[in-house]
Amino acid sequence: MAERIPCKTEGCSSTILPTTAAKTGGICMPCQQEQVRQEQQAYIEQHRRTVNLYEGLTDPIEILKVMHVPRNYDPLIQYVDYPHSKEQIYVSLTAAEAGQMLKYAVELLDAGNEDEAEQILLSLVCYRNDDISEALPKLIERNMYYPSILFKDALPEIRERLLQQVEWDDDNRNHLLLILSWIGDTEVVRQFEQWRLHPPKWAGQLFVNHDVYSLEAGWELASNGEKRDLISERCFAIRLTGEQQVGSGTETSAAHFLKTSNSNCPWCKRKLTILMDADTTHPSLAYLGVLMERLQVATCEHCGGFNTIYMELDQQGEPVWSLFNQKPDYLPNWDDKDSSVAVEEIKLTVSSEPHSPYYAASWTLTQQDSQIGGHPSWVQDADYPHCPCCAQRMRFIGQLDWADFDQYSEGIFYMFICTEETMTATLYQQS
Ligand SMILES: [Zn+2]
Ligand SMILES: [Zn+2]
Ligand SMILES: [Zn+2]
Repeated sequence: MAERIPCKTEGCSSTILPTTAAKTGGICMPCQQEQVRQEQQAYIEQHRRTVNLYEGLTDPIEILKVMHVPRNYDPLIQYVDYPHSKEQIYVSLTAAEAGQMLKYAVELLDAGNEDEAEQILLSLVCYRNDDISEALPKLIERNMYYPSILFKDALPEIRERLLQQVEWDDDNRNHLLLILSWIGDTEVVRQFEQWRLHPPKWAGQLFVNHDVYSLEAGWELASNGEKRDLISERCFAIRLTGEQQVGSGTETSAAHFLKTSNSNCPWCKRKLTILMDADTTHPSLAYLGVLMERLQVATCEHCGGFNTIYMELDQQGEPVWSLFNQKPDYLPNWDDKDSSVAVEEIKLTVSSEPHSPYYAASWTLTQQDSQIGGHPSWVQDADYPHCPCCAQRMRFIGQLDWADFDQYSEGIFYMFICTEETMTATLYQQS
């Protein structure tokens, strides 16, 4: 057998066969691969062009059009980011400009560019809560029944048509039920109640009970057949301090976020976290009519990732671990040193102006999701926990998306309340 010789690269301790050395000029394969990689990198850096697609553009419509065009990754092109995000631009459009975007989306649909059209329509609906009902016949024409939230403002004739279609259209029934849930008007609620009393023949083909669909749109069919809202239309963003430009300082003390509690989690023995401590008269919470001055929502940041955590609020509004909490069979063994960002280092504030209640309703768009009120950004299926006392579903009051504050984190903590027993709950979802 041929004697192995050392790789010529300084610091490399590998040995290689003489045949390899002949091929590579005396270095080992990993070193050769590294050499090739470095050469490619040097080539890219030398030849990379910086491209600013927004150069000279001042019209927000033109800027958004550019933003919506999908870009193929090319290592030789470095694109300059626009200084504002897509959602910031959408929010600041005038009504006339938004109308132009809607018109453009319809043109894209006519041209068969469904993906871009869908993103524009979704942005108009979520970030602005704009009525796009004039585009809905086009979507139906093209069999585009998803994302269902696009249909929330559908006119009665469309709702009527879809109510009939759901009876026979086996292929689209799931999406149609979601669409009807988003429409959620008295006719839809009446029909859902009819289906509950007299289950339709197609009910057996659904994956879930048909009244679960309404949860995706933030309401449930109460036992008396009425619509019971599980969300609040009043919605305020929660942002890192400093990112929030509009600053009347008085408003911001209305809510604090992410404080370490004095109490410990009975399961993992770590300190609990107060996700939110907010003034109950703040416009985002006043509708709840809670009698306490402040509303605190606490959870265990660790165990709360695995289980619903209920907290009961005492007379002073102090959260107390609920005896209804059921320890899951499995909880991981966290080591003492925690790699995640300490919550105390994250400084958050609630924005002084409300935004669209649908702002974060589509988790797949690019916005930050943290907010008080509005529709949740469900990463998985909609899930409103049942109150362990009164068995009603609890109402959503806000959410914190870890990805908003920490680039290495993800996952959303959702907060709920039952005002009857002043019980709060948290749930956690991640992709
Ligand atoms: Zn080597
Ligand atoms: Zn715990
Ligand atoms: Zn209750």
